[in-house]
Amino acid sequence: MSFQVDTQIPHSNGCNISIREKNGTAVVSFSPHPHGGPEALWFCFRLKRTDRGSGEAKLILENPTNLLGGSRPETFRPVIRYEEEEWQRLTPGEVKELPDGRLEVSWLVRAPEDYLDFALCYPYGKPELEKLMEAGRGFWQQDIIGVSQKGRPILRLSNDYGQEGGSRPGLYLLARQHSGETPGSWVLDGFLRYTASLGKEAPLVWAVPFANIDGVEQGDYGKDNFPYDLNRAWGAPPMRYETLVLKRDLARWKARCRPVLAIDFHAPGASENDGIYCFLQKPGVSLEKYEEGKGWSDKIAAKLGPKFAAPSFGRIARYSSRWETANFTTFCAAELDVCALSFETPYFSIKEHVLTMEDYREAGARIAEAVISMIR
Ligand SMILES: [Zn+2]
Repeated sequence: MSFQVDTQIPHSNGCNISIREKNGTAVVSFSPHPHGGPEALWFCFRLKRTDRGSGEAKLILENPTNLLGGSRPETFRPVIRYEEEEWQRLTPGEVKELPDGRLEVSWLVRAPEDYLDFALCYPYGKPELEKLMEAGRGFWQQDIIGVSQKGRPILRLSNDYGQEGGSRPGLYLLARQHSGETPGSWVLDGFLRYTASLGKEAPLVWAVPFANIDGVEQGDYGKDNFPYDLNRAWGAPPMRYETLVLKRDLARWKARCRPVLAIDFHAPGASENDGIYCFLQKPGVSLEKYEEGKGWSDKIAAKLGPKFAAPSFGRIARYSSRWETANFTTFCAAELDVCALSFETPYFSIKEHVLTMEDYREAGARIAEAVISMIR
C-alpha cells in the first residue's frame, strides 16, 4: 500500500509526519504544528492513497501531553471523513507509554480507497458559513468590516443595521478569536439558526464568525499566538489590526441599537469534558457587569441543562495569561459599558456524551433561546 499526507487542504495543520507500512497496515504518525506560537492543539490533514487496495491505517498522534489541555489523551475523540462523506467521531484512541515515559495516542481506522481527512474536531470555515446563510433564506446580510493583519476580509453578519440612536435590543457575537477552537463556531451557528427562525421577532444581531480569519485559513491553533493573542489585544491602543477593526464595529453597533449583551465563543483545553461553561467579567474590573453576567449565565445554564452545562457554569478566569492586557469581555465592560460573556465548549464529549455537529447547534440554540427570552 502506498499513501501520502496532504497538508494543503483548508485549515490544514500537521508536521513531523512519517508514513510506514507494518504488516499490511499504513502507520502514519504526526504532531500538531504550533505555527510559530507557544501552544499547539489544532490538526487537520488528508491521507491520500496512491495505489489500490484495502487494509487499515493507524493514525498516531505523538506527544499529546505537549498540547494545550493534553494531559488526558484517552479522552481525545477526533473526527474523520472518507472522501465526500459526512464527518464522524472516532472512538477513544489507544494510549501507549513509550520506554522513556512519553505517550502516544493512536486510532486504527479503515484505510481509504481514495482519501480520508482527519481533524481534531469538525472543521468550520467558509463552506459551513455559506450553508448557514442559505438556511437563513435571506435573513442574514454579510458585510466586510475591515481586513486582517494579512489582508483577508473580516465578515460580519447582521439581520438589521439599526439606526443612529436606535432602540431595538442588540446582541454582538464573536467566534474564533482563537482560530482552532471550532466548537465555538458550531455553537454560534446554532445560535444564529435559532435567531433566524424567529424572523421579525428576533433582536438585532451582529456576528463576526471568523475574528482571526488568518488563523482560520492557515490552520493555526491561534491560542496565545504571536505577534499577540487576539483575545488579549483589546487594550488602548489595540495590539492587533483585527481588534481595531472589531472595536470600530462594536462602536457602530452600540450607537445603532440598545446594546444588551456581547458573547464570545471559544473551546477550552483539549481534555476538558465537564460541559459548557462561561467566563464572567472579573468583579475587580466591574462588579456591576459581573452581577449582570451572573444573571444571564444562571438563566443560560438552566436552559442548557445537565446535557450541556458544566456543574460549575459561571466562572471567573484565574489561569495565568501570557498577556495581561484587556480581552474582549474586559473591553466591553470597561470601554463600552456592555455586559459580555465568553463561552467554552468542549472538543470531544460532555462526560459520556460524544458531541456531534447537531449537539453543538442545539447548545447554541438553547443559549440563544435563554438570552432572547430575557430581552424585553
Ligand atoms: Zn479561546
